[in-house]
Amino acid sequence: MWILSIPDAVVKARWGCSGAQCFQSQPWPPVGLGAPAREFGERAVCYNTSHRRLSTQKLRHTANPLLAIQTSLDSGSLSLLDALRRRAKSRSLAIYLVGGLLRDVLLGIASEDLDLVVEGDAPALARELSEELGAGLVVHPQFGTATVTLDGSRLDLVTARKEVYLRPADLPRVSPGTIDDDLARRDFSINALALSLTEPRPAIRDPHGGIDDISRGLVRVLHRRSFADDPTRILRAVRYEQRLGFRIEDETLSLAQEAMDQGYLAAVSGDRLRHELDRILQEERPAPALRRAIELGILAGIHPALVNSEAIDRLEASGQLRNVTDDSGVDDDQADDGRGGEIPPMLFLAALVYTLSPGDGEGIIGRLNLPGAWAEVVRDTITLRVLEPELAAPGLSASRLVSLVQGFSPAALLAVSRVTISSAAGRMLENYLDELQHIAPVLKGGDLLALGVPSGPLVGKILGQLREAKLDGQVDTIDQEKRLVEELLVQLGGQPGRG
Ligand code: ATP
Repeated sequence: MWILSIPDAVVKARWGCSGAQCFQSQPWPPVGLGAPAREFGERAVCYNTSHRRLSTQKLRHTANPLLAIQTSLDSGSLSLLDALRRRAKSRSLAIYLVGGLLRDVLLGIASEDLDLVVEGDAPALARELSEELGAGLVVHPQFGTATVTLDGSRLDLVTARKEVYLRPADLPRVSPGTIDDDLARRDFSINALALSLTEPRPAIRDPHGGIDDISRGLVRVLHRRSFADDPTRILRAVRYEQRLGFRIEDETLSLAQEAMDQGYLAAVSGDRLRHELDRILQEERPAPALRRAIELGILAGIHPALVNSEAIDRLEASGQLRNVTDDSGVDDDQADDGRGGEIPPMLFLAALVYTLSPGDGEGIIGRLNLPGAWAEVVRDTITLRVLEPELAAPGLSASRLVSLVQGFSPAALLAVSRVTISSAAGRMLENYLDELQHIAPVLKGGDLLALGVPSGPLVGKILGQLREAKLDGQVDTIDQEKRLVEELLVQLGGQPGRG
């Protein structure tokens, strides 16, 4: 949730959403973290950030960003943050809010990511806090990071660090540092902001001109070697550009191009690249970032076959899916992630690989070290595309259709039904997903045994034929099913067993 102090009409014009969708009230005044500097009579909170397209940004909350953050947080997060601040002060440790939260505050966008940098031992501070509050704690001592959770609220703490890159695309050598060291290691100026929680009335710390870049809508790296140090930032740049409606600043774009020309992307591990690709797939609208990454040749730098965005365009145009889980059997991992009927991320992966040859599909699975479920989506999507002429053949029976596509990943089936240019194949897949996959005979194995089918492989064989007959409309009622079982038993020569 985020606070906006702008009129409804402005929200509508700039963000393309209506006040009715956008506004929601919050309790006032907020509690914890000191008293508010001034009170608002009525405030509006916007959570709908979809289809936003910002140009030159009018920044929000520059006068008192901390107050704005306090106001936006729920009481649980606020008291967790307050307890952290008290403990840090008692230990004379400086702590800072950092990263996307501050960028989003200035843009008036909802954000709940409480990322904190500690000038000192973050895991030790987190441990003390969790003991004080009885809160959950996860520590990664090797990274100097810790997460504290309490009643659904969460703080991510990291020890301020300095990073030195010894070779392009390698992981950096890390040592403890100051907040300014920590900001200097970050990807873009718009993310290199910090706000002290331990100084009185703090201003945003902005050593790299991030606020100016936010107001100009620019994604800009902090130094010329940034993409050579970490080429995954090229994917990150596109993600922020497209999500925020920003533009990658000209020099940054040519540095990205240079890094790609030098082949630095090829030096990055599949896991790191996949992680950033996944971040794009998880965006509210992945298509613009995927398109841009293709247009800039970034995805081709990962695998030369990733050059076509037409299927992504068609998937996006296919619009929002209703009741994805119910209609298609696409499960939580592959589809609906709670975002209520949007196109699931895995469908964009399918659209990305839709035009590829099976060999290129395997190449991408290997290059990105794709986990099993992702690899299945890639393989099944490509196989289904190859099967399209068969699916589109006139007179294809329902049972033949089912035998061709059953067992395929639901995400692949759904994606291909949306992106195929063969309307006949698309209709067949929709028919399978909506209806045919749910059709089964009433009689089950036990019923067949009761009808005298001997136990053994014949049961499965007759059940299979029964299902085909049901799919093709040759049987409908239970009596018709029973009659067919008896006929099949005779035809298939089974010795009747005991009923
Ligand atoms: P948001 O999308 O809202 O910014 P995020 O979840 O994408 O958040 P993370 O990927 O969690 O951001 O990163 C948090 C912060 O860590 C970023 O704001 C950035 O400053 C820094 N960061 C993350 N990845 C990199 C990277 N590869 N190089 C430099 N800084 C990074």
